[in-house]
Amino acid sequence: MMKSNDILITGGTGLVGKHLRKFLPGGKYLSSLDVDLTNYEETREVLRNYHPDRVIHLAARVGGIEDNMNYPVEYLETNLIIDTNVLKASYEQGVQRLTACLSSCIFPDVVDKYPMTEDDIFKGKAPITNFAYAMAKRTLLTRIESYNKQYGLSWNWIAPCNLYGEHDKFEDHHSHFIPALLKKIYYAKDKITLFNSGKQYRQFMYADDLAKVFKFAVDKDIIESFNLAPTFTFTVRDMAEKAIKVCDKEYLEIEWDVDKPGGQFRKDISCDKFLGLYPNFQFTSMEDGMKKTYEKLDDIFGGC
Ligand code: NAP
Repeated sequence: MMKSNDILITGGTGLVGKHLRKFLPGGKYLSSLDVDLTNYEETREVLRNYHPDRVIHLAARVGGIEDNMNYPVEYLETNLIIDTNVLKASYEQGVQRLTACLSSCIFPDVVDKYPMTEDDIFKGKAPITNFAYAMAKRTLLTRIESYNKQYGLSWNWIAPCNLYGEHDKFEDHHSHFIPALLKKIYYAKDKITLFNSGKQYRQFMYADDLAKVFKFAVDKDIIESFNLAPTFTFTVRDMAEKAIKVCDKEYLEIEWDVDKPGGQFRKDISCDKFLGLYPNFQFTSMEDGMKKTYEKLDDIFGGC
């Protein structure tokens, strides 16, 4: 079994990286202060210094729809450059195992049947809302498969659905639906206003679950690539109602701003391949995950 101090984690200060520290405490966690991964010389230097057996590659430019729509060039170029550098330097340093984090955003905008499986990824155009980010991530997948094919490696990827947790981004322009929702509930006095109709279906996973799966992949030396999402899918309206209940603010009214965009009607991905590897894996319920996140908001916002 690989020792956890042989593992280098890029993006160690992000949402996923911070959750991962609980489950793989001995790894070396990098932030952008340790290395600018858009700079190849720095990336090569850090790989040379740590000479890890395994790399968990999390670092990326990540954000909500608004940021993706406003800065597509940065989402494309930054992620392509980071991924090029990390994979190239890892290969040069003889890294045996590399697991990269993709995202369910890479799946086509619309497919014939849901949930989408790993085989559906290239079956259609990615959604316009985060097209540049999705194309960078599809390229990361292609890169991994190319390294495996050309150099006989066993690198892999995990494509999780949307994530949330107490280490999330809560700034308005950056955040995804769940952190934005919990923040609204935290500050609301009598009502919250949400986009569109709430009828769209979404999968959200508590970030600890992804961290546990990375630990499992390390411990069992898993080389398969797979999707990762809870077996439950809710409408946005269901999630908003659950959140209000979990946060003990059932008196809040929900107002739906139907003039605002709602995004794809559904984008759920299948987790069957992963469950074939780990049949007894228990996903954190949405209520428990939201509760754990909400309980930390006093620390994050310093109280109302
Ligand atoms: P995050 O919270 O935004 O963290 C990004 C991490 O990348 C930070 O540690 C950041 O370092 C690092 N980073 C960014 N640019 C860098 C650079 N130029 N050089 C070195 N490090 C750099 O992201 P996350 O939510 O944890 O996402 C982790 C992975 O999961 C990503 O690959 C993302 O695509 C994937 N993912 C995320 C979600 C989600 O809902 N969040 C869903 C599916 C997949 P600093 O802290 O120093 O800036």
